[in-house]
Amino acid sequence: MQRILEAGQIESLDHSSIPRVRLPERYGAFGARATRMRRLAANSVAGIPVEPALGGYLNLMGRLADAQQGVLNGLTDSDVGPLDHDMIARSQAHSMPVLPASGPRQASWHVVFDRLLGALTAAADAAGANGADSPLGTTLRALQALSPAERDAAADAVLTGLAAPDAATAPFLFAALQVWWTERASRLQVTDIPYMEHPGLCPVCGSQPVASVVRIGGASQNYRYLQCGLCTTEFHMVRVKCTNCESTDTISYNGIVETGAPDVIEDAGAPGGKRPAADPAKFAKAETCGKCHCYRKIFYQEHDYDTEPLADDLASLSLDVLMTEAGYERISGNPLFWLDDATS
Ligand SMILES: [Zn+2]
Ligand SMILES: [Zn+2]
Repeated sequence: MQRILEAGQIESLDHSSIPRVRLPERYGAFGARATRMRRLAANSVAGIPVEPALGGYLNLMGRLADAQQGVLNGLTDSDVGPLDHDMIARSQAHSMPVLPASGPRQASWHVVFDRLLGALTAAADAAGANGADSPLGTTLRALQALSPAERDAAADAVLTGLAAPDAATAPFLFAALQVWWTERASRLQVTDIPYMEHPGLCPVCGSQPVASVVRIGGASQNYRYLQCGLCTTEFHMVRVKCTNCESTDTISYNGIVETGAPDVIEDAGAPGGKRPAADPAKFAKAETCGKCHCYRKIFYQEHDYDTEPLADDLASLSLDVLMTEAGYERISGNPLFWLDDATS
């Protein structure tokens, strides 16, 4: 008797079909990041040792990510408006980002900014002693006091990197932009998104990614994705290839910790009663390019299922120190970590 396949089964036979884009989850993107920040802050991620001094900052960024998720959950159509499908179609026709980070922004991002900064300031002051203004509250109030035109100029500065931002306030400003862009991106369909000329830039907003992750599970098994620092979209790029200059000649990998973890562990449910062991030493690496002398970090989900690229990148500053000492330049920064003299 001839067997008839269902449509889904036919698609599953096509192993050349790689999910090229993983759009952000509206009701989970920042919540997952917040949880990961707290675990990293507590030095509970074996592949990324965290010093107490950095732990305090990661906890603050965890509270920021919680506030981002709270604001995102509450956004309605009347707050931010529908997607502009005509503009999306035009952008797609020209292989341009459909929600470009450059150029004019919709005024609705100010709604996101006001809610996020309002929530953070209230929480910071509530945590202060005897009702006194907290240092963080004071920093955030200075940001809130900017006029709409000044906010837009500050947003241009952090998005383009052309002007040196104020390092203390830049993460909070960028966080509001992340919420706005992630909300927009979460409403897209993968079919809305064009193929871009430069595979190392986000096809949704055109921004630089923060880090790579090699995913496991389902159709994305063993594929490498780059996570956008602005709209949180993950987009596919083949492995063992420079995400800056696309060279494949002299790519190498440098780790952050050394452990003697076993290669396999007992698992009664696995074929043969064993399965590969998650090895913290193999989780976080810097992918370096001998041609352009740049690096970007890469995280392997098979060695830590809960990886969140932006949080893991922020927490692994010690790997940045190692790579800088070795003479490699970081391709792009982490949007939640700025230095006063940073211009990119
Ligand atoms: Zn993006
Ligand atoms: Zn390169």
